[in-house]
Amino acid sequence: ESVIVAIDGPSGTGKSSTSKAVAAKLGLSYLDTGAQYRAITWWMISNGIDVQDAVAVADAAGKPVIVSGTDPARPTITVDGVDAAGPIRTEEVTSKVSAVSAVPEVRERITELQRSIAADAPLGIVVEGRDIGTTVLPDADLKIFLTASPEARAARRSGELKGADVVTTQQALIKRDAADSSRKTSPLAKADDAVEVDTTELTLEQVIECVVTLVEE
Ligand code: C5P
Repeated sequence: ESVIVAIDGPSGTGKSSTSKAVAAKLGLSYLDTGAQYRAITWWMISNGIDVQDAVAVADAAGKPVIVSGTDPARPTITVDGVDAAGPIRTEEVTSKVSAVSAVPEVRERITELQRSIAADAPLGIVVEGRDIGTTVLPDADLKIFLTASPEARAARRSGELKGADVVTTQQALIKRDAADSSRKTSPLAKADDAVEVDTTELTLEQVIECVVTLVEE
């Protein structure tokens, strides 16, 4: 039977690296739901839609065709058939994604897509995001909520961005997490039955090992 693992938490906690490695080790599919919200945000920007205009965003929410490749060794994302892996990581998309993902019509659309991808995964899937355990897949076999100190999160993210200023990065992260945690529709939140793992003092290998052990229990 297939196994569903939900991994939620704020940015910079090691969610993506952990989720991909756990999926690869266990032979499961992998879905980065943040990439889907980034993809719809990129489409809105490319089509001249003001992301602060919730009505315009809601009206357009059904238009882009977003396709996620779920191989953990080579995850892919396309929008209307165009490779979006690069463009979704720009600073502009990062600064606008919280506004777009707060629009209920966007969440409905993306949530439906996520559920159908999870249902289609032959052996099961590791799904990472903010609301997977609470809203998207409340019946997941295992729910993990990753945390880390703000300093550790900013340091990791600055490392990824190659030399970006740690203080600026920390402020941007705090702002995005505050927006993601305070929106009305399925905010960033720990499910009651999720296992919380504080990664501040752990290496990536230790976090992966911890999650794999929990899946196998
Ligand atoms: O994980 P990542 O940092 O790429 O996510 C980008 C953004 O997508 C988050 O800041 C949040 O606004 C949105 N998101 C969401 N729900 C999810 C995953 C991501 O609202 N399940």
